[in-house]
Amino acid sequence: MKKLFVIFAVCFIFLFGCGNNGELNIKKESESLNTYTMNLTYNSDHTLNGKQKLTYTNKTDTMLKKLCFHLYVKAFSEGAVNKPVSSINESKAYPNGVDYGDIVISKVCVDGNDTDFNFSGTDNNILNVGLLKELEPTESVIVEIEYVVYVPNVNHRFGYGADTINMANFYPVVAVFENGEFVLDPYNSNGDPFYSDCSNYEVTLTVPNKYKVASTGVQEKVENGNETNTYTIKALCVRDFAFVMSEKFEIATEQVEDTTVLYYYFNDENFAENLKAGVDALKTFNRIFGKYPYSTLSIVKANFVHGGMEYPNLIYISSDVEGDDYKNVIVHETAHQWWYGVIGSNAYRYAWLDEGLTEYSTVLFYEENPEYGVNTQELIKNTNNSYVTFIELYEDVLGKVDTSMNRKLNEYITEPEYVYMTYVKGMLLFDNLCDVVGKNKFLNVLNEYYKTYAFQNVTPEHFIGIVEKVCKTELKSYINSWVEGKVVIVNMT
Ligand SMILES: [Zn+2]
Repeated sequence: MKKLFVIFAVCFIFLFGCGNNGELNIKKESESLNTYTMNLTYNSDHTLNGKQKLTYTNKTDTMLKKLCFHLYVKAFSEGAVNKPVSSINESKAYPNGVDYGDIVISKVCVDGNDTDFNFSGTDNNILNVGLLKELEPTESVIVEIEYVVYVPNVNHRFGYGADTINMANFYPVVAVFENGEFVLDPYNSNGDPFYSDCSNYEVTLTVPNKYKVASTGVQEKVENGNETNTYTIKALCVRDFAFVMSEKFEIATEQVEDTTVLYYYFNDENFAENLKAGVDALKTFNRIFGKYPYSTLSIVKANFVHGGMEYPNLIYISSDVEGDDYKNVIVHETAHQWWYGVIGSNAYRYAWLDEGLTEYSTVLFYEENPEYGVNTQELIKNTNNSYVTFIELYEDVLGKVDTSMNRKLNEYITEPEYVYMTYVKGMLLFDNLCDVVGKNKFLNVLNEYYKTYAFQNVTPEHFIGIVEKVCKTELKSYINSWVEGKVVIVNMT
C-alpha cells in the first residue's frame, strides 16, 4: 500500500510467461499450487453471489483436521472490533456516512459432502471447515463454499465509491499454514493485514454490462448477454484475486516485452504520461530485479482512501492523488509486484520487509530514470530528516518512542508511527544497506532474493540469509540493530 503523508508528499493476451533462461516460469510453477475455481455474479444492488471450489493439497508435514479461511469482509460489518478505517480517515473513506458490508456463508462441502462449519476470531472473521478425515501430507481435498457478499459504500480496497467498485479481499481465502498452525492475524486499519499462498485462479465473473472490468490475471473470453457480460479469467501463481469495475473506465495499453500494461482511468488528461510511468517502472524493475513473469499488469484509478494498493497483476491508484505524486504511487505499487506479489511475506508481522524495500525501489527507479527529475540524494536526506523530526516530536509528546520495526500491525500505537517505522525507516534501512555493501552487490542481493524465493513466503531471516550469501559477510546483527530500534538516526546536512 502507499500512504500519502509520507515525505514526498510522498486484454486479452497470451497466457503464460516465458520459460527462457533464468526467467520464472509460471506455467511450470503453477502445477504444484492450490487452485480456486470461482463462479461470481456481481448484482446491480451491490451484492455478489459466489460459488468457489478450492482444490487444496497438504504441503505441510502435519496431519490437518480442518482448514481455516480468512473472511476479511467481516472487518467491514456493523459492530466489527477490528475496523478497516482509522478514525482520522473515516470522513474521507465514508463521504456519505459510515456504511457496512458483510459476507454470509450459506453452504460448505468437503469432497462433495455437506459439511458443518463454524466461525472464530473477534469478528467471526475466520471460517473453520472440518475435514471428513484427517488430511495427510501430500493428500488433496476439495472444499466448496457458497456465499453472498454485501458490498459497502466506502472508498477502500473493498467497497464502492462514486466512480469505481473495488473488489479485493472479498472471498474466503485459505490461511497460510506455518510453524504448525494456521496464520490467523485479523484485519487492522494500519497497513495491509493480508497473507496468503500463491495459488491458481479460474474465475467466471458475470457483471452488469455497463461496467468495464480490470482484474488480476488474463481475461481470456468475454460473453455478452442481454444485460450482463461474463468474463472468463485465468491467473496462475498469484497470491490473491481482485477486480475493479467502473462505467467510466477508459483503457490505454502498451506492450512491455511479454507483458501488456493496461491503464484503466477516468478524468485523466495525463493518461499517456501516467501509463508511461507504469511502463517505465516495469521496464526498470524487469532489468534490475528480474523479469516480471505475468502477461498483464493493470494500473487502475480507483476511489481509495489511501494513495494506492497492490494486488497481483493489478494496482489501485487513488483518484485523490495528483501530479507527480500520482506517478510516484504507480512506481511504488508496481515495485510491490516483486516485493509482495512474486515474493510473499506476512505483511501483518513484517511490514517493513515489503514496504521498506518497495519504498527504496522507488529511489532505485529515480536513479535509473533521471528524466523524472527526482534528486535521490535530496530525497534520502529529506526522508532521513523527516524521520528525525518525527522522533523528536513523538518524544516530546510521549516522553519515549519505540523505534522497533518488528512489531505486528496492532502493536503500533498510531498510524503515523506505523508509517514512519515501516515505510520511512524501512527505506532508510535499505538505503544504508546499499551504501554498506555497494550498489552492485545490493542489486545482486535483490536478483538472488527474487530468483530464490519466487512464489514463496519469506521472513526477514530469508532476506538476511541472501544478503550474507551474496556479500559473503555477517550482516545479520547490523540489519537486526535497525529492526530492533538500536540504531540512532541523526540529521543529515
Ligand atoms: Zn506499499
